[in-house]
Amino acid sequence: MLIVMKFGGSSVADAECVRHVAEIITDCYEEGNSVVAVVSAQGDTTDDLIAKANEINPKASKREMDMLESAGEQMSAALLAMAIEARRFPVVALLGWQAGFMTDSNYGSARIKNIDTSRVREELGKNKIVIVAGFQGINKYDDITTLGRGGSDTSAVALAASLHADRCRFYKDVDGILTADPRKVPGARKLDEITYDEMLELATLGAQVLNNRAVEMAKKYSVELEIISTITRKPGTIVKEVISMEKMLIRGVTKDTDVASISIIALPDTPGIAFKIFSKLASKNINIDIILQSIGRNSTKDIIFTCKKEYAELAMETLRSSIKELADLKIECDMSGAKVSVVGAGMESHPGAAAMMFEALYEENVNIRMIATSEIKISVLLDAADADKAVSAIHKKFFPEEN
Ligand code: ASP
Ligand code: MG
Repeated sequence: MLIVMKFGGSSVADAECVRHVAEIITDCYEEGNSVVAVVSAQGDTTDDLIAKANEINPKASKREMDMLESAGEQMSAALLAMAIEARRFPVVALLGWQAGFMTDSNYGSARIKNIDTSRVREELGKNKIVIVAGFQGINKYDDITTLGRGGSDTSAVALAASLHADRCRFYKDVDGILTADPRKVPGARKLDEITYDEMLELATLGAQVLNNRAVEMAKKYSVELEIISTITRKPGTIVKEVISMEKMLIRGVTKDTDVASISIIALPDTPGIAFKIFSKLASKNINIDIILQSIGRNSTKDIIFTCKKEYAELAMETLRSSIKELADLKIECDMSGAKVSVVGAGMESHPGAAAMMFEALYEENVNIRMIATSEIKISVLLDAADADKAVSAIHKKFFPEEN
């Protein structure tokens, strides 16, 4: 089998970790597999490199930042190859450009355009283990580019797709994807399988586990992802298109406290006003999440929407200064809310999930401010102070036997 493995920064943080990873790789190779391993920079290396740059020039060009940041993965790839050499296995470490990663020229968050896999294939043909520096590529000017923070996951998925690998394995220091944050919900349990869409919706639970862009790419190219624990080496969670649904209605409960809600009170109730508001916000690249509009009364209505806290100020300013109908209206911003969501593709064909969620909240006497639904997700906005209590209660309602 051809296996692409990915090891993150914490898995290669120090010499002992690097040796442990080398052992995982050579064990797999000894079983008769062809192995390509994509690595991130060791531990906090990328942050440290960025800090070094800031000391010298906080406004450094993105091109030079990529030149600098890509060094982290160059180091870890070389060190891992050395650890494999020490175990007396044939190995070669390749930088992004050597492994054929062609990207666009969007320094700092470049997109992979294509991968010329000839060098990797040639090395595999010589029976070598191939180590590839993640997070980086080269553009048409022969400049080094990076793929954005957490980009090594994308490198691994893209390489697995281009090589038509039989397996794409993400080794992690967690067991897999869980139904809730285990630090907050003691009954949280590991999922054996999850769909790409659910994984994307569970971003707040899964973010530390898999990069969203990597999951999107895996979905696009149908690359099944296995999340494996570096410690137990046991398969944790498999991310794929369709999963056997078991009897599980939902896959997880998440909390997001990065929510600002902005209310515009007593707007004129005329056609086109929502268009004006949200097109202006879009033109400033402000991502809107939940939108609520009240029923009109006395020819006015209220519109309330949520966005990330960092956008709140810009959103308020944009509304005030660029829409004349809003100039004299009351616009309020509230940062005290949190969004709690349940996610599960099973909800599509099972009515009643919303009622179960609301019942759990009612039993805890938690008030709901806003509700938003999609095919596979129900989100409620509530007081941030109630969020942990709400997550636990909802989790208990959907996974009663575990609590
Ligand atoms: N080293 C890069 C980062 O820390 C890329 C990665 O870890 O995937 O963002
Ligand atoms: Mg990193």
